[in-house]
Amino acid sequence: MRIVSSILFLILFFSSFGQEQSIGILRDYKVKRVTFSHHLGTYNVQADNSIIGTIEAQQFVEVELVGGKLALKYNTIPQGTFSRISIVANGNGTLAIKSKSPAVRERKYQDHIEISVVKGRMTIVNKVSMENYLCGVIESEGGGGRHLEYYKVQAVMSRTYALRNQSRHTKEGFGLCDGVHCQAYHNMLKYTPEIRTAVRATKEDVLVDEKNRLVTTYFSANCGGEVCDASQVWNNSVPHVQSFIDTFCIHTHQATWTKRVPKSEFRNFLVKQYGFPIYDSIMAANMYTFEQERRKAFYIHPCLGIPLRDLRKEFKLKSTFFSTHPEGNEIVFEGRGFGHGVGLCQEGAMNMAKNNFTYRQIAEFYFHGVRVKKYSKLLPN
Ligand SMILES: [Zn+2]
Ligand SMILES: [Zn+2]
Repeated sequence: MRIVSSILFLILFFSSFGQEQSIGILRDYKVKRVTFSHHLGTYNVQADNSIIGTIEAQQFVEVELVGGKLALKYNTIPQGTFSRISIVANGNGTLAIKSKSPAVRERKYQDHIEISVVKGRMTIVNKVSMENYLCGVIESEGGGGRHLEYYKVQAVMSRTYALRNQSRHTKEGFGLCDGVHCQAYHNMLKYTPEIRTAVRATKEDVLVDEKNRLVTTYFSANCGGEVCDASQVWNNSVPHVQSFIDTFCIHTHQATWTKRVPKSEFRNFLVKQYGFPIYDSIMAANMYTFEQERRKAFYIHPCLGIPLRDLRKEFKLKSTFFSTHPEGNEIVFEGRGFGHGVGLCQEGAMNMAKNNFTYRQIAEFYFHGVRVKKYSKLLPN
């Protein structure tokens, strides 16, 4: 039995790695009408079982959601309504996709597109190779002009995430979405050649724990000098993601910030939401003063039950890593870092890359007890 299940596991393992990725795109919008036009290569358009034609230079199709079906126009000529439309690349191809309703800036996607209706919603899925998908994710999440070694770390993390979460949206008709819920994938194809070089150089590399299981990866822009324990942000601790001092990010441009909030606004929030003991003269006198040398989870004292993450959300603060003091009619927040601070610190990692650390060293610095391994070399336990 154990052998059979191991073989099954291996089959799943390898098939999922070689498979194309299935990404729901434009998920931040409820798309009603969209055009697919030529950018590179040629495409065949198929609707249900009919072959509609090809998309070459200057040609396009328009798809509109009408009464739960997909109305298709091929170069402005109506072709009828369908349940499923496939736009399949002949070899390497790139399509320009523009949502007309609602209006969204044009994006470009490689490989194939499938359109269907799932639960009344037009569902556009990009069937894309892992390599092309990762290039789009790294561009969307990390931006251009970074160090090659940094892009390699991002490639390993994003690949690990994709393989670990491949069935997150199965009920909606695809594997991963293109929003920050999964990984941002707003493919514009502007990426610098280093991104593709990094994805190829780390081919199959993933982050695994001591039992060769894919690990959960997180990252944020700047941890402020101390990586945050996951339990302070999400209540659950995550293995391999613990708190520790990071000196690689403390001199970067997002390392510190200041924000002022009217005292009355702050006081009202604390009294209303948490019953802050304003009637206690000592507590009231000290309600604007808070020191955070090392990361804490609660404001002033845990017994008051005021999580720092709530204050961050309410007052739109860049991080939970701040100290406060009163000044006139205001409370001044003096903070460090940007983002939740859990897992890899992007600015710290960029700095490590500039200082000749390898992508393996960077990944293993931010995720304790993990190793970088080739996915195809992993064996089930
Ligand atoms: Zn998602
Ligand atoms: Zn950091």
